[in-house]
Amino acid sequence: MLIDKIEITPIQIELTEPFVISKGPLTHARNTLVRIYTNDGNVGVGECCPYRTIHGETQQGTVAAGKDLAQILIGEDAREIRRIIKKIDKSLAGNASIKAAFDMALYDLNAKAVGLPLYRYLQGDNDKKIYTDMTVSLLEKSKMAKKARKFVEDGFPVLKVKLGENARKDIERMIAIRQEIGMEMDIRIDANQGWNYYEAIHALDGMAELNIQHCEAPLPAGDFIGREKLNGVSPIPIMGDESVFSHQDAYRNLAVDTIDLINIKLGKSGGICHAMKIASIAQAAGIYCQVGSFSETRLGITALTHFSKAWDNIIYYDLDSPLMQSEDPIQGGMVYHNDWEVTVDETPGIGADFDPTFLKKFESFVIQ
Ligand SMILES: [Mg+2]
Repeated sequence: MLIDKIEITPIQIELTEPFVISKGPLTHARNTLVRIYTNDGNVGVGECCPYRTIHGETQQGTVAAGKDLAQILIGEDAREIRRIIKKIDKSLAGNASIKAAFDMALYDLNAKAVGLPLYRYLQGDNDKKIYTDMTVSLLEKSKMAKKARKFVEDGFPVLKVKLGENARKDIERMIAIRQEIGMEMDIRIDANQGWNYYEAIHALDGMAELNIQHCEAPLPAGDFIGREKLNGVSPIPIMGDESVFSHQDAYRNLAVDTIDLINIKLGKSGGICHAMKIASIAQAAGIYCQVGSFSETRLGITALTHFSKAWDNIIYYDLDSPLMQSEDPIQGGMVYHNDWEVTVDETPGIGADFDPTFLKKFESFVIQ
């Protein structure tokens, strides 16, 4: 299973409407695909969605970095995942997004090679039930309330609400949503680093009675001290997202109790190999996790679903990014059911791939 060819393809998919978070709107998913071929005729596919306001990576940057990484992987034995990941990490700091695409392709390749669906390759349990939430963009409060109403009518079991613009207005947004849909439905919120310490205290205290499951990223990722203080007093559990990219981040934050929960994203950890370390550290600390994504297609979300089947401390699922895209270019893979259960089947590997007709629209870079 020697790697003899790697293909890098930047793709673009328009979103049905702009996805708005405190960092600004996203109108298109500009993702980068990695296909790794081996000399025995096997192929693995991975995907990443670089978010410039969160990763500091761009699509152009992921393509350039991907070409460099591909050069050093030609001739490597694809079965040696950890050794390859180590080589990638040694040659390039940061760049978690493009690394995740390589990692995903390697896991797909290896699971296919032994004829196992990825969840089973990761010792997961396909009886584990997974239901996705649906995300309400950061908009004017009446629009958000209307969206929340629509998603309740669509049958989603839980909503995620984007906040982090302004503490006072954010409280008003949540009150408007609760007035529209009532108090019963589970809601989680995400400030995407939009508040400072004082705004976060104000916002979270102001929402204390609004039945909020947890709050992601109330403070800037770098405000470690603020997070430590906030977690001691917040009436709402705090989930680390942008503050937890790596397993070292997970350990550092959990060691001094800055967060109660972790949002694991393959696009932050650099893929499955390191994401397993995060889940494991969280498990040792008695911490529950969520899984989430950037704007990956159903391919990336299928890989994430398989991963989620392998960890019983992952209990929250934010798997809605494909639902926001104007086209679905993926064949096979995860299925959304009417009650928003998400399932994967027994196809070996991730069990999904891009429609070749869709890929013809984009230029590919081949390294061999
Ligand atoms: Mg988040």
